[in-house]
Amino acid sequence: MHELGLVNYAVKEVSKIAEQNNVSRIKSVTLEFGEVSGIVTDYLYDYWNWYSKKFPMFEDSTLYCEEIPAVTWCDNCKIQYSTVAYGKTCPHCGSGRTWLLRGNEMRIKSIEVYDSDDASSADGGDIEASGEYKPQ
Ligand SMILES: [Zn+2]
Repeated sequence: MHELGLVNYAVKEVSKIAEQNNVSRIKSVTLEFGEVSGIVTDYLYDYWNWYSKKFPMFEDSTLYCEEIPAVTWCDNCKIQYSTVAYGKTCPHCGSGRTWLLRGNEMRIKSIEVYDSDDASSADGGDIEASGEYKPQ
């Protein structure tokens, strides 16, 4: 179960980015993760709730998760295909010389923040994040 490590990583990265941008309160964080990363989103939401109670910066913040479709590359035909539909064997030539192009990663896609002038304002700003986490 690497969800806890992942949320821990996301919280640390978001805190770092928030500090650099003089942001004191986070409204929401959107995480993108690969279709075959094995991440269970229910755990992510649970851990996120726990962190949001522990750190004032994340109080009342919302976590959103988006999926990145998994894509495999066939070295024989030089094409890409859907990993989930066909696995490690290329559906075009039957070759096993394939590897995962994407679908096993997690990254922080965006961070929404409360207006620093009025913390109760519903209008948040957006920060483009670039943090990326590679599950073991
Ligand atoms: Zn092929």
